Amino acid sequence: MTTRRPLIAGNWKMNGLKASLGEISAIAAEAAASPAVDVALFVPATLIAPAAAAAPDFLIGGQDVHENESGAHTGCVSAAMLVEAGAKGVIVGHSERRTDQHETSDTVAAKASRAKAAGLSVILCVGESLAVRDAGNAEEVVSAQLIESLPQEAASDWLSIAYEPIWAIGTGRVATVEAIDAMHRALRAALRGVIGEDADKLRILYGGSVNGENAAEIFAVADVDGGLVGGASLTAGKFVPIIKAARSA
Ligand code: PEP
Repeated sequence: MTTRRPLIAGNWKMNGLKASLGEISAIAAEAAASPAVDVALFVPATLIAPAAAAAPDFLIGGQDVHENESGAHTGCVSAAMLVEAGAKGVIVGHSERRTDQHETSDTVAAKASRAKAAGLSVILCVGESLAVRDAGNAEEVVSAQLIESLPQEAASDWLSIAYEPIWAIGTGRVATVEAIDAMHRALRAALRGVIGEDADKLRILYGGSVNGENAAEIFAVADVDGGLVGGASLTAGKFVPIIKAARSA
């Protein structure tokens, strides 16, 4: 782990009802006991308000935001709606949205911009398919995807990047520490080319089957500044060991 403050973020995806609020409170309590680590949970839109009420000092976020301020976009959620519900952050560009909702990198950049304007912190996701990984040019492809997805106002005080190899998400397959190291270095170099020295302050998280057993090894990689965690963030029992691994990294 570097001198950048680690961020451990949980992505609940389409999981979580009010019955899960006890897990959120337990995770928030562990976050409060870990002042050197930032912890956040990105919950379904329907759970943002009750979660923010149950854990008022904790960072609750949304999993997507529309790129427009308001209007005829049935089923979508605006940045102002997220803020009003109690969200302090949002994820943009998750591979599941890039694939299922066909979101382009231009759209992802516009979403990040809109969220920033509303005062939300943002985690912007990038990552390669297995075909790209096997072709041997993953660093080049993901660096290009990052540059295309970056909004003009990108800066370390509101934006973090999550590198998530698509083939490692929810599969139990984790990238090797060597591959993670090479990718995070490449992404930081790409960021330097766009935002200059501020790139050294911007957090780059790893995501893809992080759990209590592998977290310490992943967080020990120099350019890894925390994790974006799906399945293992759904219960305090699984998520707390990951927070603890970041605390001692
Ligand atoms: C994710 O949802 O971003 C993710 C990395 O999921 P998992 O940890 O389950 O692979």
